[in-house]
Parts: sequence; structure tokens; C-alpha cells
Amino acid sequence: MIDQPYAYQRRELTEPDWRRFPGWAEVTSAQWESAQWQRAHCVKNLRQLREVAGPGLSDAFCADLERDQSERATMSMLVPPQMLNTMVPTAGPGEPGFTDAFYADPVRRYMIPVFSDRRADWPSHPYAARDSLHEAEMWAVEGLTHRYPTKVLAELLPTCPQYCGHCTRMDLVGNPTPTITKHKFGQGRDDRLAAMIAYLKATPGVRDVVVSGGDVANLPWPRLEAFVADLLDVENIRDIRLATKALMGMPQHWLGDEVRAGMERLGARARERGVSIAIHTHVNAAQSVTPLVARAAQAMLDTGIRDVRNQGVLLRGVNDSPEALLDLSFALLDEAKIMPYYLYMCDMIPGSEHWRLSLAEAQHLQHRIMGYLPGFATPRIVCDVPYVGKRWVHQVSRYDTDLGISYWTKNYRTGIEAGDELALSREYPYYDPIYLLPAHGQQWWRDRDRGRAPELTLVP
Ligand code: SF4
Repeated sequence: MIDQPYAYQRRELTEPDWRRFPGWAEVTSAQWESAQWQRAHCVKNLRQLREVAGPGLSDAFCADLERDQSERATMSMLVPPQMLNTMVPTAGPGEPGFTDAFYADPVRRYMIPVFSDRRADWPSHPYAARDSLHEAEMWAVEGLTHRYPTKVLAELLPTCPQYCGHCTRMDLVGNPTPTITKHKFGQGRDDRLAAMIAYLKATPGVRDVVVSGGDVANLPWPRLEAFVADLLDVENIRDIRLATKALMGMPQHWLGDEVRAGMERLGARARERGVSIAIHTHVNAAQSVTPLVARAAQAMLDTGIRDVRNQGVLLRGVNDSPEALLDLSFALLDEAKIMPYYLYMCDMIPGSEHWRLSLAEAQHLQHRIMGYLPGFATPRIVCDVPYVGKRWVHQVSRYDTDLGISYWTKNYRTGIEAGDELALSREYPYYDPIYLLPAHGQQWWRDRDRGRAPELTLVP
């Protein structure tokens, strides 16, 4: 055997025992596997977290969480039991050291962020923004982002069964927090969805629709099925991708009879029409892949859809090592038949600096994970560059590592650049976290903050 930097080994999936949490000590398997029970018992606030975890979770942790929620959080708390149960999967709150293990847990770090997780020096990058990808600016009709030439993103609804602390759509998705109000759709849901279908019928150049939100698992099934059926009737649509983190966060939803039967109808109709339907989910850590998640993915594949794929997010403290990324990818591919697809760099929303990696770190990770997985299942690490779109991290055109600014170009116009002659020659910036820069680079940003360094004039 040759000694390799990463030692591959198969790991059997396990469903952690939820009865280790005092609040769920009496919960039966039938209750656990019910989507209704899961929805009714989501943890939405500190009081409910304490009820589930009992006194084993320290007061200091609870105060840390409370402070984050009142001063920093961009997303309100919403954690399904399924996801909470994957945190510290082998120890219960009654065991010594539980709070420390909870602090260190990768899933906790992005689902239940606390104040001490965040950077004190630069909690947000100066160029961080709500809707950092400018999706709403590119709405062709309300909720339908037309950013790429042949594909669109349909934001059907602004809610999810779970709220991730780093959500890139924090501008729109979820409930308001003490520091963040949320954008509200102007039109009613049915009018919005009808306008989307009308736009797609009138725009034959679009062949690919990402049906998203929020999370499509929060749309009543008949409404989602009707929308996808309408898409299947649009002549030019060839690819439909349903975006749902709930395949992992609440697999019970996708295992329900109504949803499976409906997906079978859609799968059959898609095959008749030669259209590909796929599910895109969002798993960031290997420990989130449990037997129930694998069952849900298999149930979806059994309906005859084309694929189930994963789009994770690269997050510091969660999956920022080659081992974590390869463990995740192998768990998905080997044990759950979910295709590792993308790993996004965390977007530049407020409060995200502690999660973000530099471009150099992301490039290094991409290099380190090459060669272990089949090529088709090696996730591509991508930077979603504002006004550009997804770019593989090695596609950067220029990189100033002193100021932490990478420059990117593109080969198509977004929906708002029809008359923009410079769109294809301009360089578009993206920014590394400032605290990772060399001392003189950090000083430049501090001077800029105090008005002593020139403003960047990057976009002509
Ligand atoms: S599931 Fe997706 S849309 Fe919903 S909160 Fe998480 S990242 Fe945001």
C-alpha cells in the first residue's frame, strides 16, 4: 500500500440516536420518520434548544447564541430535529465536554452560529452586501433571475424548512432578525409564478430552469407539481433542477407518499418529453449524510428523475480541509448516490467573514481533492462573482494577494447588460477576507475605512 495524503475508506452511514437528547428521549421511530413531526418540532429559538438539550448545554453557550441573534444574525433560527441530531452525533448533552464538542461541531457552526464565532475585527467585508449576487436586479419578472444566457433561477418562495446562518439569499429568505429586515415580494405567489411561465414561453433562448426559493420543500406539493408540469409544457425547456436542502435537512419530506407519487408523475412526463429533472441539494458535512438521507435520495432516483446532485458551500470550520471535503464527497457518492457537483465559496453577505476562505485557500483545496474521486464526481470549487456568475477558482484573470482582490472576466452578458459595450472586456472584482491579508494589505483597508486610502474604482 502506498501512503497517500488522503486515506480512502468506506464508512457505513448511521442515524445518530436522537434519544440521547433529553427533550427527545421518548420520541419513537415512527414520530421521527414523520415529516409532520419534524416540522412541528423544529428548534426556532434558544428556549426550544434548551428544552431539547437540557442542562448539558452551558449557560455561556446560550448567552453567546442569544447575543449573536440580537446583534449579528442575518437569518433567524430554524433547525429541524433531523439536522440537530447530526450535531455531536456520538455524545449526548449529559456527557462531560458536550458544550465544547457542540461549539466545535461543523453543522452547529453554520446552522446555529454564536457571537464568538464571528470576527471581532472585520465581521463583514466593506464590500459585503445584502443580495450580494444582485439577483433581484436581474429579475426578468419578479423572482426570476436571468443572469446566464440559457438558464434562469426561479425563486418560488422565500422560506425553507431550515435556515442556514450563511444563506446567500439572506435579503429575501426567512424571517426578519433584530438587525435585518427582509425583502418582500410585491406580487402574490400565483401571479408571480404565472408571470415566470409566461416569460419562459416568450423567451425561447432559455432551456434550463433552477426551481428554487427558499427551498421547494416548503411549497405545498400540488402547487410545486403544477409549476413543474407547466415548465414541462414549455417547448424550449430541457433541464429542470429542483433546489432543496431539505433532502438532507428533512428527508422525511421527500419520503412522504404524496411527494413520491407526485415526483413519479413528473418523472414520467419528463421522460416522455425528453426533459431532465434533477434534484439539487446542499450538504456541507459528511456527518449530515445519514441512512434517512440516503433513503430519500434513492426514493427520488426511483421516480425516474435524472440525478440527485450536491451543491455544498465551502465554510471555514465546517469543511475547509481536503479530508472533510473528500469524506463528504465519498459519503454522498458511495453511500447515498448523490453526485458531488459544486462547492461554492461563501458569498459576501454581512457577517460572513469568519466563514469565508480566501481564493488562494480555495485553489489549494481544489488541488488537494483532485485525483481521488471519479472525475465526474470531483466537486468543482467555484466563486460566484457578482455580475459575472460561477467561475472555477482557477479561472481568475488577475489576483492582487496584497489587497486580497481577485479580478474576473466573463463571456456573456447578464440580463441587465444588453447595451453594455464593456461587459465582456471589463474585470469584475471579488474580495478575500481582510484578516487573512499581509499586514500592509490589512493596513490599506483600515486606512480606506478611515478615509485615508483611495476608494477603489474598479467597475468602469
Ligand atoms: S436552505 Fe438554501 S435558501 Fe434556505 S436558508 Fe439554507 S442556504 Fe438559504
